[in-house]
Formats: sequence, structure tokens, C-alpha cells
Amino acid sequence: MSQRAFNFNAGPAAIPLVVLERAQQEFVDFRNSGMSIMEMSHRGAIYESVHNETESLLQKLLNIPAGYKVLFLQGGASTQFAMIPMNLLGAGQVASYVLTGSWADKAYKEAKLIGETHIAASSEADKFMRIPSLNEIEVPDNAAYLHVTSNETIEGTQFQEYPSTGHVPLIADLSSDILCRPLDVSKFGMIYAGAQKNLGPSGVTVVIAREDLISSSPKTIPTMLRYDTHFKNNSLYNTPPSFAIYMVNQVLKWIDEQGGLTAVEKNNREKANLIYNTIDHSNGFYLGCAQPESRSIMNLTFRLQSEELEKKFIKESEQAGFVGLKGHRSVGGLRASAYNAVPYESCKALADFMAEFQRQNG
Ligand SMILES: *Cc1c(COP(=O)(O)O)cnc(C)c1O
Repeated sequence: MSQRAFNFNAGPAAIPLVVLERAQQEFVDFRNSGMSIMEMSHRGAIYESVHNETESLLQKLLNIPAGYKVLFLQGGASTQFAMIPMNLLGAGQVASYVLTGSWADKAYKEAKLIGETHIAASSEADKFMRIPSLNEIEVPDNAAYLHVTSNETIEGTQFQEYPSTGHVPLIADLSSDILCRPLDVSKFGMIYAGAQKNLGPSGVTVVIAREDLISSSPKTIPTMLRYDTHFKNNSLYNTPPSFAIYMVNQVLKWIDEQGGLTAVEKNNREKANLIYNTIDHSNGFYLGCAQPESRSIMNLTFRLQSEELEKKFIKESEQAGFVGLKGHRSVGGLRASAYNAVPYESCKALADFMAEFQRQNG
């Protein structure tokens, strides 16, 4: 087999090699059915067992309490930006958002299309390079929910702890950090994540919600955009993205084999430390973008002194087998996305490359 790239793509992103290999083995003939899983009915026993097992694996890994339901939806996290206010924002209520960066802003703007909104806190004055501290966050009494973006994929910041919101449901976009560390699901009314960063391929969005929030949607909402449709039909109202859900199933089994989320977090912190330490010990050659106490362990953003030097870094990194280190076009600079599936060896190779690049250009 040809050499695997050092894949630091932001999304779609790296998938564990063993998961790809297992999927390859089962690709043409799934469990002696004479078919690929892509070719079979989503109403049949084989697919249904994969579907239900995927929910069970999430329940196990995240220790999801009773009274929560896992949904597998389509349309990406971006569709959740609209479905959340459509389903949950009632008359006389406001949808409250913590503005932490590009993705929080998109979620907030969708809610503005639907109803009354409120900004609970914002770090825009600091160019979104930090997560507001918990005591900056103000939730109005008539809030339908408080929405936070757990990890800002573009800016490279991450909540280290989540606000307590009392009777107001806390909703979190975990698209770029779900399963990167243990999570107390009972703190949340709902969490959601597009799969293509930490869960598998694109095409499915995981929603984990308190059942009372998704069991009766307003009557005026179209069928497919109602949470109650998917809740009542176990995410099988229409044809689900069966292959993507199967891949998520495989990724969850792999996480379980790694020792679950405590072990995964330890590995992620070691990976991130390799690169942050290189930045912090570079005497200003590399400049971390996010404020240190808000740094993400998933998306690590940094800059060099000039755009010319950044271009040179990207060009030489590509020649050395690294992929995806260019920052998002909206903010520039450099970004290494070190999701769960990015091996320690890739991060070690990047830290070594960074040190060598500094030696030659510093
Ligand atoms: C990638 C991303 C999204 C958008 O996900 P889609 O599935 O492409 O709609 C939303 N929020 C965050 C935090 C992301 O990283």
C-alpha cells in the first residue's frame, strides 16, 4: 500500500486506518448477505441491527442518561442551525447564543431568520481568539435555550467547561469535538455534530437530545424538519444515510477499543501538547492564535511573521507529506486539525517538521 498522508484536514478529515480496512473487507459482501450494506433495505434486519447498535455504542461511550434519544439526521450541522429555533423557539421567547466565532455566528444568523434572538456573551472584541468566561454569560429568563459552539473549528478555540443554565436547556454544537473527551450529557438539553470531523464520513449528523424537547414539534413545521418525526420513527422515517451510519458504527467501535473517552482524551492532549509546545518554545517564530486558556485540542491555529513565510511553510509541508495545514480562507494562517483519528505519529512528525522549518528560516 502507498504511504498514508499526514492528514490534518479540517473536515472531512482523517478516519482511523483500521476502520477503513474493516469497511473495505465488508464492502462487497456484508455479513454473508451477498450485498454491500449500501445495497440493502433500511427496513431489513441486518441494517436495523447496525442502526440500533450505533445508538447503543454512543450511549455507552458518552454514558448517555435515560430520557435522551440519539437521532441520525441529514443536512449537516448547518441544518440543525435552523431546526433548533424552528422546533424550540416559542412565542414570547428568545434564542440565546454565545458568539465565539465563525460557526456560532452562522448558528445565530439562522435563528435570526426564525424568531427573536439574544447574545448571551461574545468574544468578537478579541477577534474570537478566546472563549468567554462562564461569568460573562447572561441567559435571560425567557430564553428558549442557550446555544454554545463547543469548539470553533476555524479560530481554534474550545470550551474547557460549560455554563450551568438552570431551567433553560443548554444546546451545544459539538461538530468538531464530539468524543474528543468525556462529556456530562446530563448538563445539556441537546448536543449535535456533523460526522465528518470526529465520527466518520460526511452525510450524517448525530443529535442527542432530551426526549421532552423533541417529542412534540410545532404543527406548522414541515415533516422532515420536525424533531418529533425522527424521534417517533427511530430516525427511519425516510431512507437514512445507511453507509455513513455504518461508518460511524465502526469509528465508535474503534474508540471503544482505544479504551473509551478517557484514553482518547489523554492521547489528544499529548498530541496537541507536541504542537503547542513547539509553538510556545519557538521564541516568537510561531505565534499561537487562540489565547492559551481557550486553546482547542482539536484545531490548532498558528501563524508565522509574514504571509510569505506561511506560504513557504505550506508548500514545504506538502512536499514532506503533510495535508491540510492551510488555515481557513476567512482567517488565514495555519491550522492543524488533530482529530481523534489523527495518529500521535502524525503530530510528532509535524512538531519535528516545524522545528526543522524554524531552524532553516528563523
Ligand atoms: C463543520 C462544522 C459545521 C458545519 O457542518 P456541516 O455538516 O458541513 O453543515 C458546524 N459547526 C461546526 C463547529 C463545524 O466544525
